[in-house]
Parts: sequence; structure tokens; C-alpha cells
Amino acid sequence: MSKKPNWSDLENQVNHLSPAEGLALLAELFPGKIVFSTSLGQEDQVITQLIATQNLPIKIFSLDTGRLFPETLDLLARTESKYKTRIQVYYPERDSVENWVAKNGINGFYDSVENRKSCCYVRKVEPLKRALAGNEIWVTGLRAEQSANRSEMKKIEWDEGNQILKYNPLLDWTFDEMIAYIDEHKIPYNPLHDQGFVSIGCAPCTRAILPGEDARAGRWWWEDSKKECGLHTR
Ligand code: SF4
Repeated sequence: MSKKPNWSDLENQVNHLSPAEGLALLAELFPGKIVFSTSLGQEDQVITQLIATQNLPIKIFSLDTGRLFPETLDLLARTESKYKTRIQVYYPERDSVENWVAKNGINGFYDSVENRKSCCYVRKVEPLKRALAGNEIWVTGLRAEQSANRSEMKKIEWDEGNQILKYNPLLDWTFDEMIAYIDEHKIPYNPLHDQGFVSIGCAPCTRAILPGEDARAGRWWWEDSKKECGLHTR
């Protein structure tokens, strides 16, 4: 049975607050139980800036799948340096990765949707579950505009798969609003964005997109699937 809490009051409150105010409120209401997962994407960089400049007690963490772009890891280091903060990095279980590669090959995720999902599970989903364990609020950088899958989301919602309340402070931000905020606050970002990469994940599974393409079109472009890696479940 689900331990789904009643969160409608919380939702009403944060719906009237800016992302900075919402983060501050939840940090106060859930001391030691609120975490933020960053993939170092533009949305996540905005949230890191909001947390760090307000000195909020929200743990920031990232998942290093072992297949990230060097530019992403470099950005992680630059972000820590700029905001004088530590981003806790979670890695996949060594035995699970070794077994997966032994069975499927180093790039076996191209062979089937099933293989791709199992690679995402080993390299992302399992480490995420470890990072979220024991917490009550998971802050994410999801925006409704990013894909059809995300357009129905709410700022506060229950994540059934991970049994945690999710807070999506930038849900109603447009792409242009986000870029303006990054420019105004000189927030460091991944140089791959300037080469046509929008949503950046693992190097072998991300490509630049063409003008007019959906923002998620550059992820697992060889599939017709929902373009999600299993991190966000509803
Ligand atoms: S995005 Fe690609 S390389 Fe990264 S975990 Fe998923 S399938 Fe594996």
C-alpha cells in the first residue's frame, strides 16, 4: 500500500510562490529531508544557483553514469567552485555495471529498448533510489514545456516509483525565461548547449537537435519510446 501523504495544502502554498520562495519554504518545512538532483542541465543550474545563493539547507546531488560528456563533469567542477558548494556524486554499483557490459556489450543499449532501459536502470535509477532514500522532498528541474509527457505535471506531485514528494519549481517557466535568468545571473552552463544540444544526458545517447525539433528529440533518438529514462515516474 502507498504511503501517499496529503499534499494539497503544500501545493496551494507553492503555487503562489516564486521558485526561490518555494525552495526556502520547503527547506524550512522538511529540515534534513529535502534533496535536489542535478543533471547540470540549464534548468538544474538555475535551481543550484537559487539554493546556493540563499544558502538553503538542501542537499544537491548528481548521478555520474560513467558515460557523461567531459563537458558535463567540467561544469560540475565549475559550479562547485563558483558557488562554493559541494555536489554529492552518486555512482552505479560496480558489479551491476560490469555484469551489464559483460552480457550486453559496452554499447548494448543501442540493441533494444529493453537493453536501453536496463542500462538506465543500472547507471541511473538504482543510484537515484540510494540518493533519495530517507528523504521526503525531491526537488527537480522539470519544465512542462520540455515534452508532452511533462505537460500534465504539477509543481508538487507524488512520485509513486520512488515513494517521495516531488517539487518542480520551474514547471511553468518558458525556455526564454530560463535563458534570460541564466544570462542575468551569469550562471555557468554546459558549452554543448551552444552547439545545438538541448537536453544533455549520457554522451552515446544524446545528440544535438535541429531547429523546430522537440527538446527531448536528441535523447535516444533511435527509439520511438517516451524518451524517459525511468528517473521520473508518476
Ligand atoms: S542514457 Fe544511455 S548510456 Fe546513459 S544510462 Fe541510459 S542507456 Fe545507459
